[in-house]
Amino acid sequence: MSKYIANRAIRGANALVAEAEFMLQQAIAEKGADYPVAFPNTAYYLPLTFAMTNQAVENLGQLNSVLSHARELLHPTPADRKWTPYLGETLDGGMATLLAAETIEAIRYIYGLQPEPYKDFVLSGGTAHTNGNGSSDGLTGHLNGAIDDIQLRSWGIQLVDGRMPGFAAIVGAAKSNEVAVKIVRELQRRNILTFLSGNVNGRSIIDQLQEEGVELGYDTYTVPFGTDTLSAIYALGFASRSALTFGGLKPGQAREILMYNRERVFAFVLALGEVDDLKYAAAAGAINFGFPVIADTVIPEILPTGVTQYEHVVSMPFNEIDGKDDLERAERLVQKCIEVRGVKVQIADVPVPVPYGSAFEGEVVRRTDMRVEFGGKRSRAFEYLHMADLDDVVDGKIEVVGPGFEDLDPQSSMDLGIVIKVAGRQMQEDFEPVLERQIHYFVNGASGIQHIGQRDITWIRLSNAAVDKGFNIEHLGKILHARFHADFGAIVDKVEVTLYTEPSDIETWLQNAREAYDYRNKRLADLTDDAVDEFYSCTLCQSFAPDHVCVVSPERLGLCGAYNWLDCKASYNINPTGPNQPIKLGRIIDNDKGYWTGTNNYAEQASHGVVQEVAMYSIMENPMTACGCFECIVMLVPEANGVLVVNREDSSMTPVGMTFSTLAGMAGGGIQTPGVMGVGKYYLVSPKFISADGGFKRIVWMSSVLKETMADELRAVAEREGDPDLIEKIGDERVATTVDELLAYLEEHNHPALIMDPIF
Ligand code: SF4
Ligand code: ZN
Repeated sequence: MSKYIANRAIRGANALVAEAEFMLQQAIAEKGADYPVAFPNTAYYLPLTFAMTNQAVENLGQLNSVLSHARELLHPTPADRKWTPYLGETLDGGMATLLAAETIEAIRYIYGLQPEPYKDFVLSGGTAHTNGNGSSDGLTGHLNGAIDDIQLRSWGIQLVDGRMPGFAAIVGAAKSNEVAVKIVRELQRRNILTFLSGNVNGRSIIDQLQEEGVELGYDTYTVPFGTDTLSAIYALGFASRSALTFGGLKPGQAREILMYNRERVFAFVLALGEVDDLKYAAAAGAINFGFPVIADTVIPEILPTGVTQYEHVVSMPFNEIDGKDDLERAERLVQKCIEVRGVKVQIADVPVPVPYGSAFEGEVVRRTDMRVEFGGKRSRAFEYLHMADLDDVVDGKIEVVGPGFEDLDPQSSMDLGIVIKVAGRQMQEDFEPVLERQIHYFVNGASGIQHIGQRDITWIRLSNAAVDKGFNIEHLGKILHARFHADFGAIVDKVEVTLYTEPSDIETWLQNAREAYDYRNKRLADLTDDAVDEFYSCTLCQSFAPDHVCVVSPERLGLCGAYNWLDCKASYNINPTGPNQPIKLGRIIDNDKGYWTGTNNYAEQASHGVVQEVAMYSIMENPMTACGCFECIVMLVPEANGVLVVNREDSSMTPVGMTFSTLAGMAGGGIQTPGVMGVGKYYLVSPKFISADGGFKRIVWMSSVLKETMADELRAVAEREGDPDLIEKIGDERVATTVDELLAYLEEHNHPALIMDPIF
């Protein structure tokens, strides 16, 4: 342990705690101790403080005890002659720094200084912030500030299924703009979530990336917290909440939360440029979480002692890195970070002339940046994947039949049919739709390409930038060939892609494709729980929520919405020892509630005894547990004799007096809570939706965004239930945010739940 670091970190911690105390006294004097304090859209109060100390801070006055706790953690800087280790003192100082930093940011929120105003800045929106038609309504005029719960959860699933291997907190500024861009691109290429903060002499990596026109935001896995060091606190707040949301840990279990992060969250800090006292102190805070710090300047190193799994502090002076130029040095620096933290990275080698990786999946290609589009309003596009005999497929053959877009004017549209033929000894017809759905993710991974929709409503845009780099229609085929082999090699041995642009060919193939879509729809409709003798498990989320298991049946998909029964079946065939295992149903115990010996045994074993029985079709009795990735939450409204459904995108108040975020805290963590359940939104329209409790007619309130986005499916359900006006009888946040308002609405509209048998 370096005394130099200990000295500077402890000095930085003392200074910051003093500053926080000063700011707090001033704020209390001006606003009063009762003045409310909160980070926006989170149920975790000030998340790091809440996780570490179990204090639910809601007003300025309560911050006093947070800071007195921080002060207790402070030690004097080590005396010159003292040679004992001071790791403990340094780590305490780090924790004090984090508490003080979170306090300061909370006060700044009150004064409108967080999220940090930043001229002309446009933050590209995330899944939760895109308005559905592909355009983004991201924030303007300020940086991101704290991450909200919606985004935390939507990243959660990606962290769990490995699409996102970890996160990097970058603090400072790179040697040059060019280096800044390279570092971020290298991280994006590996799908590592990147948090940006801090500055060196007033210049921040955020400024550098802005000047180079790099799109920052949730969509591109690059989140600009703020241009000072303190805003890095949001990264540790994110880490703390991950442990509470996905790990089932409780606030106040500081040690467990830190251990959880050390073992399961692959994160590191990359300090760019000169390191001052405050940065040392903050770094000491990160080390508490087991996150190592890599600096691109000369600083003393701290070798492994057990707190981090690897080195604590690694110095890699930028100019001394082996490499032919700065770009290569930047690449090596990122590689070093990954090695030090042991981040597991997988990237398929995709032969395209543009950067490729899931970090580019959310990119939007605006009309003005577009070279050509296929599908959308002005042309037709479709995609169709089918299996064929091994002899009928020429692996790697990519053929474009018809003219390219080279002779078209900029911003034109043209027809495109993508037909993929696959063959493999393990391939089954049932896997065709599963594989076909991947086209969306695969194509979107290319930087500058946007893919929306599926089947015959596919809509693809190529940007000018991508075409300038040489991207053409054939590359779409190359991407698909490479990714199907890389991701589905166990079921797919050969892949051939034909891209049709000639209208007459498109006509013929579209016919074939539509027949296949129809056939699949019918097959899906016939696929009921009663028609199969095995369900599938999904334990993907156990890396975050160790006791949670999704039991996936044909009529109940996984709660994240990403895995249905067919997906799980395909996944099992791809990886027989993976997270999706067949569950033999065995003997039926209760057909209405959905108990089988097989499902009960499986749930007990996979939950490590936490859950003994699981009812597939009830929310009131032994409901299925949830991790944190649910698309919607279903919650009992006792007064209305029914349930409400609130979805992730809805941050408004529900009639039970809680928002999605607060409810999520009750529904997640792998624990059974009768009356609360996290579900995938397509389960709502399943005939088996809480069928033991009365089914769909129990829904008395539902987020309006669900009503709108699932309008067709819901109309069909209303017909099925014999009550065509049923959806209009269901309240939403526009008409009821309290129980009284809801009851009045239900009475007025004669909602059936009011006269159904008591739900409990
Ligand atoms: Fe996680 Fe369940 Fe989705 Fe599997 S199905 S990824 S366990 S939420
Ligand atoms: Zn999950």
